[in-house]
Amino acid sequence: MRKLVILGGGYGGMRILQKILPNLPDSVEVTLIDKLPYHCLKTEYYALAAGTLSDQHVRVPFPTHERLHIVYAEVVSIALEKQQVILADAEPLTYDDLVIGLGCEDKYHDVPGAAEFTYSIQSIESSRNTFLALNNLQAHSKVAIVGAGLSGVELASELHESRPDLEIMIFDRGKNILSAFPERLSNYVAEWFYERDVQIINHANITKVDEGILFNNNEPVQCDAIVWTAGIQPNKVVRELDLEKDRQGRLMVTHYHHLPNNENIYVVGDCASSEHAPSAQLAEAQAEQVALVLLKKWNGEELPDRLPKIKMKGILGSLGKKHGFGLVAEKPITGRVPRLLKSGILWLYKFHNG
Ligand SMILES: Cc1cc2nc3c(=O)[nH]c(=O)nc-3n(C[C@H](O)[C@H](O)[C@H](O)COP(=O)(O)OP(=O)(O)OC[C@H]3O[C@@H](n4cnc5c(N)ncnc54)[C@H](O)[C@@H]3O)c2cc1C
Repeated sequence: MRKLVILGGGYGGMRILQKILPNLPDSVEVTLIDKLPYHCLKTEYYALAAGTLSDQHVRVPFPTHERLHIVYAEVVSIALEKQQVILADAEPLTYDDLVIGLGCEDKYHDVPGAAEFTYSIQSIESSRNTFLALNNLQAHSKVAIVGAGLSGVELASELHESRPDLEIMIFDRGKNILSAFPERLSNYVAEWFYERDVQIINHANITKVDEGILFNNNEPVQCDAIVWTAGIQPNKVVRELDLEKDRQGRLMVTHYHHLPNNENIYVVGDCASSEHAPSAQLAEAQAEQVALVLLKKWNGEELPDRLPKIKMKGILGSLGKKHGFGLVAEKPITGRVPRLLKSGILWLYKFHNG
């Protein structure tokens, strides 16, 4: 039996399973390794942390198949020369083909105290801790959110709806929040916050964090809770691999999504280098191409010279439960429509994977 091992049942890992299991050749067996007993909807962690979505609503069961084995264990490292995955508290697993889809973690940019004294929404475990911290705060407490990209903005708006009594501050390095989006969208979102007394601090430079104190440009700001949404980096397992990486630390891959010098190791999602910013949408698009390559390889079929260029369909962000913003076909949209679209996409995703 040829063994495919998939590390991580996130957006990338799940999409590969969805595409290969119905067509799996009899000679191939698949092992999925994840530390969690379900697939998690990471794109909804902001709502889990804010307290507007229950834990159960961000979980989806993994699929079943007679030749799919699921191992619930933590991946510690990959022994490339032995073709083995090293696990915590379990025997190493040998692979013929490997997919790395372990996602990302917070990046603290060497800010002292940031890792120790801020809450996170990058994993379900950390989002649950953040939920407890934010929802146990006394009335009129001060919450600082560091970073005003998509996840920081979504968290701030959802938290405002969940706990309107809180004093929420968003610290961002840029002159506008959502700096990766067109100015019209940044302005719309800034106005939304302004109308709701959520404070935006632009040109921020967080130099240090202590328990309950954020230092912005070395000036102390007292806070009752601080949440970090100011950067990501690939999973530690990937960071520790001695392989070629891009400036963000993501693994370099060929246009077939495998390592340049190893045709049996594929990389998807936040761990893979790409011209696009990391997203669930990108992880799924890469995964569809990896599934196609694997099926062709196992069936002895020739690969196309090039795979179609991955194009992003757009991006949608929420501002609480009623408003949103987004870029669809490169056109900015704001208001209720993007929010409805976002909810619809989430519903469809759960329907197809549940
Ligand atoms: C708040 C928030 C909002 C977002 N909103 C959007 C959005 O609207 N649209 C969008 O496209 N993207 C969004 N993203 C980004 C998106 O969630 C990620 O880009 C996407 O999850 C990446 O998919 P992945 O398959 O690479 O990894 P993930 O989906 O993160 O999956 C990684 C998997 O690996 C497992 N794992 C990790 N480490 C180990 C280990 N050592 N051992 C075993 N298992 C392990 C995890 O349990 C997980 O199941 C958002 C992210 C956040 C945080």
